[in-house]
Amino acid sequence: MALITTAPRGTQDLLPENSFKNQWLESTLAKTAADFGFSEIRFPTFEHTELFNRSVGDTTDIVQKEMYTFEDKGGRSITLRPEGTASAMRLMLENGLDKGLLPVKAYYLIPCFRYEKPQAGRLREFHQFGVEFFGSATPKADCEIIALADECIRRLGVRGVSLNINSIGCPECRAEYRTALVEYFKKREDKLCKQCRERLATNPLRVLDCKDTDCDGDVENAPVITDYLCGECREHFEQVKTLLTESGVAFSVNPRIVRGLDYYNGIVFEFISSDIGAQGTVCGGGRYDGLSAQMGGSPICGLGFGMGLERMLLLLEKQGLLPDSGNGCRVFIGSMGEAAGKEAFRIALELRREGVAAEYDSVGRSVKAQMKYADKINAEYTVVLGDSELESGVCRLKRMSDGETKELAISDLGGFFR
Ligand code: ATP
Ligand code: MG
Repeated sequence: MALITTAPRGTQDLLPENSFKNQWLESTLAKTAADFGFSEIRFPTFEHTELFNRSVGDTTDIVQKEMYTFEDKGGRSITLRPEGTASAMRLMLENGLDKGLLPVKAYYLIPCFRYEKPQAGRLREFHQFGVEFFGSATPKADCEIIALADECIRRLGVRGVSLNINSIGCPECRAEYRTALVEYFKKREDKLCKQCRERLATNPLRVLDCKDTDCDGDVENAPVITDYLCGECREHFEQVKTLLTESGVAFSVNPRIVRGLDYYNGIVFEFISSDIGAQGTVCGGGRYDGLSAQMGGSPICGLGFGMGLERMLLLLEKQGLLPDSGNGCRVFIGSMGEAAGKEAFRIALELRREGVAAEYDSVGRSVKAQMKYADKINAEYTVVLGDSELESGVCRLKRMSDGETKELAISDLGGFFR
């Protein structure tokens, strides 16, 4: 296999004929976020490795197995971001946004990198729409980000996506749950995969999230966190459920949802589709009130979600919801002969400068081949310039949808399309 003509495994190219689909998806998400009062942020593609070790968590799959980490030429350990929350938090703390006007509401559209086993809906470079909400501890904030994800899904038009929510409690109630969970899994330790046996000691909640098909933890019958929530966590969870119901956001409580990253506490949620195979979680998120302090920052609370764009595109494609074409060519200026070819170029440029998408023959094709090309690029109108058109200053504009033609002065083309 020739390495220079083959993209690395688990990556995808975006081709010119498809990019309008991604642009449509991304602009729909950005507009929805903006309507909810979120502003875009951008941060580097790589960070100091320590940031992810400290935030995502040393015992998670991401940090232990999936990060693209390397030493740069200055001897620093650098990692291509596996997710966005750690960077967003770093950005907020470094720029002192936690000391300014709260809440801080931010979104981003980013590539993420994880060394995973590539399959449908699972890539090594994938893209996320992420949203973070810093500085509010109220159940309203939880409901707002859930409602935002829900509204994104509604605007995209996808059907059959169910919202699963859970509370994984605060460090206090989780400690008690953790003990109960370890006790339960210890009894069937021999049936667990090697990794889950290790997880029992380091991070037992992760056993609930194991994706190894040979691992038989009988997770179905394991103790559920919701039985262990303290009064405060229970009350918060109740309020979120009530507010969601009152706001018309449909959900089910699923006590198995624990999420794969360490920084979560309280409300966690996933939007799951059964339409795109095993990797059906199109969006996941939750609250991470301890993260800032864990990173050495002020004790500011936060919450957010990440939506996988490739999985969302799979779903949109499957349900036939993607737009047919992007903003196509409005007019193709064909030409016959050297002088007309130059004039076509000049007119196309003039139209483009006026914001009209115009195209001309840059290859030197015959008129017949030019028209075939115009058809392929879905030009709305075509016109062919030759010596006689140049002489008379009049051309014949053809509407491609029905073949109707119209005579007009070449100098009026701009006016016609403006
Ligand atoms: P999963 O359980 O599917 O591994 P996750 O819990 O690791 O997902 P998050 O870290 O919450 O995922 O990322 C948010 C979203 O990003 C996921 O819900 C999913 O839609 C998408 N995503 C995560 N990993 C990948 C990947 N390797 N390829 C494509 N999309 C991904
Ligand atoms: Mg994962």
